[in-house]
Amino acid sequence: MVRINDNYAKLQSSYLFTTVSRKTAAFHEAHPEREIIRLGIGDVTLPLPRSIVRAFREAVDEMGEGPTFRGYGPEQGYEFLRKLIAERDFQARGARIDAAEVFVSDGAKSDTANIQELFALDVRVALPDPVYPVYVDTNVMAGRTGAFRAGRYEGLCYLDATEANGYVPEPPEDEVDVIYLCFPNNPTGATASRAQLERWVAYAREHRSLILFDAAYEAFIRDESLPRSIFEIPGAKEVAIEFRSFSKTAGFTGTRCAYTVVPRECAAPGPDGAPVSLHELWSRRQTTKFNGVSYPVQRAAAAVYSEEGSRETRAHLDYYLANAKLIRAKLVELGVPCSGGESSPYVWARVGGDSWAFFDRLLGEAGVVCTPGSGFGLCGEGYVRFSAFNERGKVEAALDRIGSMAIGG
Ligand code: PLP
Repeated sequence: MVRINDNYAKLQSSYLFTTVSRKTAAFHEAHPEREIIRLGIGDVTLPLPRSIVRAFREAVDEMGEGPTFRGYGPEQGYEFLRKLIAERDFQARGARIDAAEVFVSDGAKSDTANIQELFALDVRVALPDPVYPVYVDTNVMAGRTGAFRAGRYEGLCYLDATEANGYVPEPPEDEVDVIYLCFPNNPTGATASRAQLERWVAYAREHRSLILFDAAYEAFIRDESLPRSIFEIPGAKEVAIEFRSFSKTAGFTGTRCAYTVVPRECAAPGPDGAPVSLHELWSRRQTTKFNGVSYPVQRAAAAVYSEEGSRETRAHLDYYLANAKLIRAKLVELGVPCSGGESSPYVWARVGGDSWAFFDRLLGEAGVVCTPGSGFGLCGEGYVRFSAFNERGKVEAALDRIGSMAIGG
């Protein structure tokens, strides 16, 4: 008789964004005349830049001609893309990453979800609270936690990210083995300074732990003093893996392309205590379970690095950042304390009370969708996340409506 993986039974009933969608759909059904404005889920709204579409289309044409047709590509990604990534995203910023250390994938979601397969079931996992839910749920599915009690899973080490620490937790007193960090952060929009990342790298080196650094939003960083990659920190190559994505950087949420950097220096003890290369292990995992990203998609991603592609994607990012600035300004005007939105598409707002109650109120009174902070963890209670991914006119209309609600201090 087939039985389910019991760990799935520990998962909280519904994934956050599914509940947001369900509630939004129910509201729409009850009030079909009301226009809903979504400042909730972090999905881009601008179409792919022209130069990227051109490269995408040319590559599709190549697939339709005998001499240029391609079948299975290298699981790790085509070299033309991996070289661009290594040179432009890392070497240009002083991080010594080479093309062989880059693994192209279909998403940072799958990679951040799958990476935990490489580690023993009894490693101590630390993750921020609030947090991108994928890191938590995939460790629950794998069986690294106990039950969910009072808002947290037993067995995980939660790193509180609060107003008091500027949403950048310091390394814990306890020993932890695998540490998830995400900067610029989803959901708080916080960024980490060089000194803060240096303390994490020092911790990881001292405790022989591994940092899983999610930099899916690095392209939104505008403050040149902030590191974009953990590998800009000396000594990080031995103790960190980094995840990046073209989703938010270049509008690839529906096109799907991302990459993970697993440096050759990264190792962890195997069954006999001898170090095993995590680079080799990830390669083994990917070549077994993944057959690569399609050739046209990788050509489209490569076009992000062309002169025209960089200019166009930069304009999109600026557009979203300008939305974020408007959201922030309105909240400040209303007396709602908030963070993020400067090097991030997310604005994290302290609305007080119950996050879901505020979500319902915002939807009911203003027809605006936000994301309840409590869905990202206990520390998110009393907060909501506004996303800057929408058309300017809609953001302005949403802010006008929010302005007429009695919120804030
Ligand atoms: N990591 C973070 C922090 C995210 O917020 C998201 C998407 O919202 C992802 C990863 C997933 O990115 P991708 O579209 O590449 O799967």
